Amino acid sequence: MSLEISGTTRVCGIIGNPISHTASPRMHAAAYKMFGMDWTYVAFPAPPDRLDAAVKAIRGLGLVGVNVTIPYKESVIPYLDELSPQARLVGAVNTIVNQNGRLIGHTTDGDGFLLALQNEYQAAPAGKRICLIGAGGSARSIAFSLAHHGAAEIVIANRTRYRAEILAHDVQEAYPSALLRAADFHIAAMPHLLSEMDWIINTTPIGMAPSVGDTPINDMSWVSDAHLVCDIIYTPNPTRFLREAGERGAVISSGAGMLAGQGVLAFQLFSGREVPFKVMRNEV
Ligand code: NAP
Repeated sequence: MSLEISGTTRVCGIIGNPISHTASPRMHAAAYKMFGMDWTYVAFPAPPDRLDAAVKAIRGLGLVGVNVTIPYKESVIPYLDELSPQARLVGAVNTIVNQNGRLIGHTTDGDGFLLALQNEYQAAPAGKRICLIGAGGSARSIAFSLAHHGAAEIVIANRTRYRAEILAHDVQEAYPSALLRAADFHIAAMPHLLSEMDWIINTTPIGMAPSVGDTPINDMSWVSDAHLVCDIIYTPNPTRFLREAGERGAVISSGAGMLAGQGVLAFQLFSGREVPFKVMRNEV
């Protein structure tokens, strides 16, 4: 993990449940290796009834900080001392920094998604018309980042309409200059809606392993080479949705990029250093 564990090795980690599948230790270790840092990164499985104790251990053991993953991105908030403005808006935390015993919660998921597109395609959301399929936790972090970085219009299409309306309302309130709209995730209406968009982002788990034959949109007739189509799922890579969009000429981006991007930004919060995106992307 670090070059060699010693009496001075500093410790970061990730808490979640389950956690054994995580790629984060590999990604962060690659950054430590690149900079020759005497740091290590450990996956900590935290059962729900010990989340409080797990967070207290960050202070008690003097960890540099931890990442937070499913299912604790929201439930960890009451145990923290402070939230970044973005984490407060999104209502979720995926990175906790231990600042001399004060635990500060951040979210790097949405900006990590954008960092990946910037690195992969020099693509930025400013002025774009963007459809998010889904209105869950990931959609929330991505929607705030899209608005923050100047998206012209964001349409949130969700199976449960009121969740799309809540998210559209929250983002609109924080970013009045973006145009936010909620829509039903209605199979028949989607091709027309999507044909008018520049970027389409699937944030639902439809198509994730083991259900690799599933896709959020069956009718792909709307796709052209002017579209950027993203899926935040990273197993499989590509999903059926991405593969079919790519076959019709769209530029495509998988969830592996978002995973690496959030890691790059978390590492920066922990260490103050900038690791090249490709160093972490190679480990996903
Ligand atoms: P979440 O909070 O549970 O939200 C899931 C969303 O998908 C909800 O809007 C839900 O709609 C919708 N949905 C679920 N099943 C559906 C179905 N059968 N038909 C239509 N809509 C459906 O989940 P999340 O935490 O945002 O995660 C979503 C996906 O992103 C997962 O596959 C996860 O692995 C992936 N992810 C990737 C990264 C990365 O770094 N690449 C990071 C985080 C998550 P309702 O509101 O109607 O329930």
